Amino acid sequence: MTRTKVIAGNWKMNCSLEQSQALVTEIRGMVRDERNNDSEIVLCPTYLALPSACKLVQGSSLFIGAQNCHSETNGAYTGEVSAEMLNHLGVSHVIIGHSERREYQNETNAFLKEKVISAIKNNLVSIFCLGESLEQRESGQLWDVLSRQLSESLLDTSVTAKNLIIAYEPIWAIGTGVTASAAQAQEVHSFIRNWVAQHFSVEMAEETRILYGGSMKPDNAEELLSQIDIDGGLIGGASLKPRDFVNIHKLAK
Ligand code: PEP
Repeated sequence: MTRTKVIAGNWKMNCSLEQSQALVTEIRGMVRDERNNDSEIVLCPTYLALPSACKLVQGSSLFIGAQNCHSETNGAYTGEVSAEMLNHLGVSHVIIGHSERREYQNETNAFLKEKVISAIKNNLVSIFCLGESLEQRESGQLWDVLSRQLSESLLDTSVTAKNLIIAYEPIWAIGTGVTASAAQAQEVHSFIRNWVAQHFSVEMAEETRILYGGSMKPDNAEELLSQIDIDGGLIGGASLKPRDFVNIHKLAK
């Protein structure tokens, strides 16, 4: 079975509105001129830039994703934005459970499950992130940590291979310039796919896209993306450099 690869850019808290518009426009132009495969591209700017980003990608093959959503639809949640609001805007994807939010906003697996449920209800594709710290890896807790992140956030929800993309992001590789080796990433991706097969179905496991995230760049993307269970990348730093981002996309065949 061939899974269409996904290259997603997480712009984090970067770019003014004008800079975001320019970046979307530049990437759109480059992809139109140079696109050489069918892999999907998802751009995730700040909330501020979402309305104009959605307009700027109309008529193109690009998707727009948010970096977060709240689990509730509306109410007294100052500073938050709901999945329903994102859907009304034309956003199609939402990153849920990025390690920076898990760490700085103390987001728990249980809370992330509520967000996944809300994203599904509002027709958003969740890009569900999970990953271990270096300390957890080195102390032999890797599989336990990942199993708990998967079980506590995805079990008893109606996730499918269509409304869920999983992103394995080892915390020690995010923004550090250190990348997991292709073998390390493949080992974890295979574990995640087996977990999906065991807890949902073999068919769903075969179809679910599992992205790698953690200092992916044009010079390491080819090897990572050639691994059998790596179906794309969630890219931070390099997604702000249009040439690098589009070059990574070109490697995602
Ligand atoms: C990320 O934050 O999702 C990420 C992978 O960042 P970077 O590519 O900069 O490591």
